[in-house]
Amino acid sequence: MYRALRLVAAALSVLLLSGAGQAQPAKTGVERLYVLNCGEGVAGDISRWSPGVNEGKSMDFVDTCYLIKHAQGWFLWDTGLSDAVAAMPNGLAPADPKAVYWHRPKTLAAQLDQLGVAPSDIQAMAVSHTHPDHIGNVEMFPTTMLYVQKAEYEWPGANNEPRFKPTHPVTKLEGDHDVFGDGSVTILSTPGHTPGHQSLLVKLPHTGAVVLSGDAVHFKSNWDNRGVPSNNFSKEQTLSSMQKISEVMAKENAQLWINHDKAQRDTLKMSPEFYD
Ligand SMILES: [Zn+2]
Repeated sequence: MYRALRLVAAALSVLLLSGAGQAQPAKTGVERLYVLNCGEGVAGDISRWSPGVNEGKSMDFVDTCYLIKHAQGWFLWDTGLSDAVAAMPNGLAPADPKAVYWHRPKTLAAQLDQLGVAPSDIQAMAVSHTHPDHIGNVEMFPTTMLYVQKAEYEWPGANNEPRFKPTHPVTKLEGDHDVFGDGSVTILSTPGHTPGHQSLLVKLPHTGAVVLSGDAVHFKSNWDNRGVPSNNFSKEQTLSSMQKISEVMAKENAQLWINHDKAQRDTLKMSPEFYD
């Protein structure tokens, strides 16, 4: 009897040690990913993003930022609309009524504060591109290393102004970049929406691989139908970047999280909940 029990105990410990019956977490330096609310708005005419489709129809948009906790430090992907928009009583009206009328129900600063993360705790950051709803808070992190494509950095702004403050620490990229050197967070060069647009591949231990779109695509029907907004910098580059993303997704068995897609984002856990 005693011997039988010992055998059962031994067998159990072997099972527990091998983790049989449990999904094994993937080996990755990424520990957590937080989805942050970086704006909410209404697009006046959605056909601005999908020429010829849904003309004159408005659609809800969201603006999303993502905070990643890696074993080597914090990494911020996109900074959203300026936190100053939160203080505007009527929100930020667009110059073109077909574009997005933005509000900011929560500041980025408040969401970081809720997590106990100070701006100076964030070692590295990247923005998908330099439109105002993505770079609004870059200077909240004046000492954080910024990863940006050279083509985006050098793209002249209005009145030939630089896209970023020249004193901001920067690493200018020419293509894909493995941020932590372990393959867990990879910037993907996906030009087209703008000259140096980029997306992000993140490998989470339990959730698995996720591609954060930036504005390589704005909502799911555009992804499904390869719709290209009329005001993109290059239609051809946009289409080949979509193809690149779909190849990365197939290779990495990755999900696609679309930055501005409200229907999809409504299904995601928002900070302070997180993905691991
Ligand atoms: Zn954009």
